[in-house]
Amino acid sequence: MDVRVRYAPSPTGLQHIGGVRTALFNYFFARAQGGKFILRIEDTDQERYTEEALEDLYETLAWLGVKWDEGPVVGGPYGPYVQSERFDLYKEYAEKLVADGKAYYCYCTPERLDALRAEQQAAKSEQQGYDRHCRNLSAEERAEYERQGIVPVIRLKVPTEGKTTFHDILMGDITRKNRDVSPDPVLLKSDGFPTYHLANVIDDHLMGITHIMRAQEWIPSGPLHIILYEAFGWQPPAYCHLPMVMGKDGQKLSKRHGSTAVRDFRQQGYLPEALLNYVSMVGWSYDGEREFFTREDLEELFTLEKINKAPGVFDYKKLEWFNGQYIRQKSDEELLELLLPYLVDAGFVSLPVDGEGRQQLLLLTASAKERLKVLSDIVTLSRFLFEEPVWDDLSIFCAKGVDLGVTTEALTRAYGILRAGLESGLGDQEIEDNLMALASEMGLKVGGVFMPIRVAVTGSAVSLPLFDSIRLLSNQRAFGRIEKALDILKREVR
Ligand code: GLU
Ligand code: ZN
Repeated sequence: MDVRVRYAPSPTGLQHIGGVRTALFNYFFARAQGGKFILRIEDTDQERYTEEALEDLYETLAWLGVKWDEGPVVGGPYGPYVQSERFDLYKEYAEKLVADGKAYYCYCTPERLDALRAEQQAAKSEQQGYDRHCRNLSAEERAEYERQGIVPVIRLKVPTEGKTTFHDILMGDITRKNRDVSPDPVLLKSDGFPTYHLANVIDDHLMGITHIMRAQEWIPSGPLHIILYEAFGWQPPAYCHLPMVMGKDGQKLSKRHGSTAVRDFRQQGYLPEALLNYVSMVGWSYDGEREFFTREDLEELFTLEKINKAPGVFDYKKLEWFNGQYIRQKSDEELLELLLPYLVDAGFVSLPVDGEGRQQLLLLTASAKERLKVLSDIVTLSRFLFEEPVWDDLSIFCAKGVDLGVTTEALTRAYGILRAGLESGLGDQEIEDNLMALASEMGLKVGGVFMPIRVAVTGSAVSLPLFDSIRLLSNQRAFGRIEKALDILKREVR
């Protein structure tokens, strides 16, 4: 069988972790099977549709390097792939169902349906939803409604007896009594718009979709879709509902846990390789051990059999760790290219950068590489190079448990050692040893000496390695900052 799968997002919001995982699993499955990956835009909900969401979809897939074989922009033999361009088709098929006695026109006004709902709620009635009022209208009754100019909706005739089973590759058979399936849902609205169920089933069939991989929240729609396929006389595709993506607390992943929009991750400086790799490990594993996979690896190795039944946990810390790993695999040149937009945005550098400026930034990149969790960390880590430090609260100079007086003395003496060492060309290690000797002589922990130097040079208690920072700044600028800091400290402790 030639595998054909699709990702069918509704452009109503930004692409989030769960959606992207669905896209990736479909894409990898298609690639691994030598099949086709189709992108379909389910934009039938015009009220919730946004242009921004559609742009975000394209940007996100491009960023991840996921290309679709058929779909918007690239076209294909089953197009158009945007549902709002297929409205005539849905109408035609819905009317065909009516002609075949599988669906019917319903003339109920919104007022009648509201009243019905209120009544059912007041009576706490077991029967909720549409009461199938129009299911068996006589020709005369219909004619009367038509004469009144009421434009009907089309509803599906859901069998009232028996049950419907659909098979899910992961979950096995899922059976529901037909009387528990939504009572005669609307397929086509009076304005000619299809509902999700109608458009989704028609398109999956006409586009020759063989496997449906989508979020588990769609399981409740399964029996209804099977009934629709039967009404059309079509063979349903295979289903594989994907396990939920949860936060660490066992709740469905949501904004409460942190960002879920891929765009946010992209802006913070997660690499597409890292996000793609980690998200693919949420609910899928290769052999339970190997964790690192490139997109190309997964295009080859992905199998449905290895999808977990249990919900997958999305761990922000783990993603951050993956990101760090991928950052460290970059060459300095590659990494600098990725960091530049952040440096430009912060107003630290302006493009183009070349010559000595570029060399300087390459040194910065090399020094920062080990410490970057996300690309945007470069802004805090490099601020000291581009802006003079301001020390608002002098306690920042003090290591834990050391007072300002002792800190000032430590910095005074450390400066002497540092300056002498650097000017006489001692190596980092020797200077460091001398500073450690000072610490022990003063009865301080190492931080008691290094913290004030670090804060004087970089303005921050967290920074790049000290000697790298000094080299990046130049001895002269670093000494100037230490002297300025000493002035301020001495005035304060006098
Ligand atoms: N448009 C639906 C969504 O946004 C598609 C669900 C499906 O894959 O059938 O999730
Ligand atoms: Zn009705």
